[in-house]
Amino acid sequence: LMQLFRPLDLLGMVYRTIRQGLVDMDAMFKLIDTDPEIQDKPGAKTLEVNSGQVTFEDIAFAYDEDRGILHGLSFNVPPDGTLAIVGPSGAGKSTIARLLFRFYDPQAGRVLIDGQDISHVTQNSLRGAIGIVPQDSVLFNDTIGYNIGYGREGATQAEIEEAARGAALDGFITKLPGGYDTQVGERGLKLSGGEKQRVAIARTLLKNPPILILDEATSALDSRTEDEIQATLAKISERRTTLIIAHRLSTITHADEIIVLNEGRIAERGNHRALLAKNGLYAEMWKRQAEDRQLETL
Ligand code: ATP
Repeated sequence: LMQLFRPLDLLGMVYRTIRQGLVDMDAMFKLIDTDPEIQDKPGAKTLEVNSGQVTFEDIAFAYDEDRGILHGLSFNVPPDGTLAIVGPSGAGKSTIARLLFRFYDPQAGRVLIDGQDISHVTQNSLRGAIGIVPQDSVLFNDTIGYNIGYGREGATQAEIEEAARGAALDGFITKLPGGYDTQVGERGLKLSGGEKQRVAIARTLLKNPPILILDEATSALDSRTEDEIQATLAKISERRTTLIIAHRLSTITHADEIIVLNEGRIAERGNHRALLAKNGLYAEMWKRQAEDRQLETL
């Protein structure tokens, strides 16, 4: 009977290996959701980040020719400043982040970092300067230590542990039976949404980029986790130019500028206070969310 089972066992192993392969491939594709036409220009230079100023200059963009997504978008995020982008689903918020990473080139206008057109610098140097804490982080089927260390090639164990501390993840990890060697992902320990986000924060701390994109999750975490994560995010966005793609307005009241994006155009802009005073779209969204928050606490 054992003879009969052996091939099955082998098949199971192959299946699991392929499956793991697929999961990781899927993770990779999510990270590299990019237009294959994007290439370094001949003689492309290394991006030199001095202060980390990000400028979008009259950007027009469409994924498909017949459907414009961004129409003449301009903004400037000063060094160490925070820009928040809000607006309805499909308004083009994530597209802005993809353009900054140069996953696509705009049809018109320029994206500049410290005055350098990002289409003229190497993609490596560009992407090395930007960190992203995504909505839904991808975990590799590997140890939690590996998943954090992935933020920077060649990171030492001490650096990984320091990043975990910075993301308030060390307490959780040291309680795990295998510590930093605990397997996570599909085949290992499943992490909660908040824990996964902390892994992404730790990765970003290791990378230590001058420019940061925070892509806020649409699905709410419980409010204590949410508050803890907000505090950690606020800490890591200090001294960095930060773009926040926000869904909950309560998390961006401190932003230097808030852009309300609607159908690829800026409908309103200003800081929280100025936008409330305007009594327009933003004020309306704020009122609606404040009511929701009140309902939550009932
Ligand atoms: P959400 O708040 O729901 O995440 P968003 O404001 O971030 O929305 P984007 O993801 O920037 O919106 O998408 C803007 C528009 O571009 C949407 O209508 C979307 O369908 C379209 N779009 C996004 N990605 C692609 C793509 N790869 N190819 C074609 N169209 C796309």
